[in-house]
Amino acid sequence: LPERVDVVIIGAGAAGLMCAATAGQRGRSALVLDHANKVGKKILMSGGGRCNFTNLYTSAENFYSGNPHFCKSALARYSQWDFIALVEKYGIAYHEKALGQLFCDNKSKDIVDLLLAECRAAKAQIRTRCAVSTIQFEQNGYLVETNLGLVHCESLVVATGGLSIPTMGATGFGYDIARQFGLDIVPTRAALVPFTQHKRQLQRQDSLPGSSLAVTASCGEGSFHEQMLFTHRGLSGPAVLQISSHWREGQAVTFDLAPDRDLVDWLRHCRQGSPESHLHSVLAELWSKKLVQFFLQRLDIASRPLKQFSDAELQALGAKLQTWKLVPDGTEGYRTAEVTLGGVDTDQVSSRTMECKTQSGLYFVGEVLDVTGWLGGFNFQWAWASGHAAGEVA
Ligand code: FAD
Repeated sequence: LPERVDVVIIGAGAAGLMCAATAGQRGRSALVLDHANKVGKKILMSGGGRCNFTNLYTSAENFYSGNPHFCKSALARYSQWDFIALVEKYGIAYHEKALGQLFCDNKSKDIVDLLLAECRAAKAQIRTRCAVSTIQFEQNGYLVETNLGLVHCESLVVATGGLSIPTMGATGFGYDIARQFGLDIVPTRAALVPFTQHKRQLQRQDSLPGSSLAVTASCGEGSFHEQMLFTHRGLSGPAVLQISSHWREGQAVTFDLAPDRDLVDWLRHCRQGSPESHLHSVLAELWSKKLVQFFLQRLDIASRPLKQFSDAELQALGAKLQTWKLVPDGTEGYRTAEVTLGGVDTDQVSSRTMECKTQSGLYFVGEVLDVTGWLGGFNFQWAWASGHAAGEVA
């Protein structure tokens, strides 16, 4: 005979553990199954080991989805303030790094421990190294077949996450379950991911890996003012990760390399104050010497005393440096991407409960859904909010 519980949750990540704790607190018997050897692996590796667990300024505008309104209800009912209150209840020290991004002072494990404590208090069970093979819908629930035996549940919550970092246990199993029950999948792609560049291009910037500068990166409707970092494979840093969610193969990304000023005005001012100064030494006030040399070479600009530049030349120079266009070769893909764009189509899911509209008792939470956050703690906030929404009703 199968083991019987009220709620089975597949995936012991951020959304699944939050859902289990919430359902358990309502007195529901909840069982979390995960094929990995330990829970919350992505939480552990997140935020450079310090988990950027939410963002003070979370709003629907920070998410990409086929339906931009879908995330509103859950985010309103379990907000960043709710998760911050939970973090404070456990005495976890945290700080704001930048732009409302909240990080643990110590380590990401503090957040995993918090979730495990909440699950324990709610008597939710967690089973790791448990691979689910099939799911059958029965009149009064679901029969879940695993390598550790059969489990019957009234409600089934799919919290299997996205496709990024397969070595951490990411699979497309959640999408398979969605398809099994007739739901559509919005095509997926790696996002919040570094750009790669052609070998020839990399040779031209071989002294730059490790160099960074503030830029505004723009592509399509996206525009982000953050740091860009040169790497051995291409470009990374927050500005590049953010804009990768807007980029499509073959498109150019535009970089404003001096986003905090009107470069032409500034250069005119410099020309007036110190006409004998060479362009390269003036630009060294903005960037490292290596970067100045690279950009001047790359954009075919010869350095000479500023007094030798006409207004028209300064205009042209400003345009080159404030709208530098680059077509990335590609991205590093799911191997290093932080998230997956696309996923289970939200049209077929209730935005209030995360229950499938056409299949009673089946829920999807977290990154498996077609809801993807910007960089900065938004993806975890979506996991907490959607996990909580399902946990309140499943
Ligand atoms: P996950 O946390 O990915 O959990 C899914 C779980 O399902 C996993 O435990 C997995 O083992 C399990 N699973 C998958 N397939 C199966 C299967 N077939 N059977 C059983 N179990 C299965 N977001 C932020 O907001 N802030 C950050 O600082 C941040 N840093 C990140 C850093 C990195 C390197 C990465 C990769 C991501 C980062 N993210 C960050 C994104 C964030 O980790 C995810 O958006 C979030 O973990 C999604 O939560 P989830 O519960 O939906 O999925």
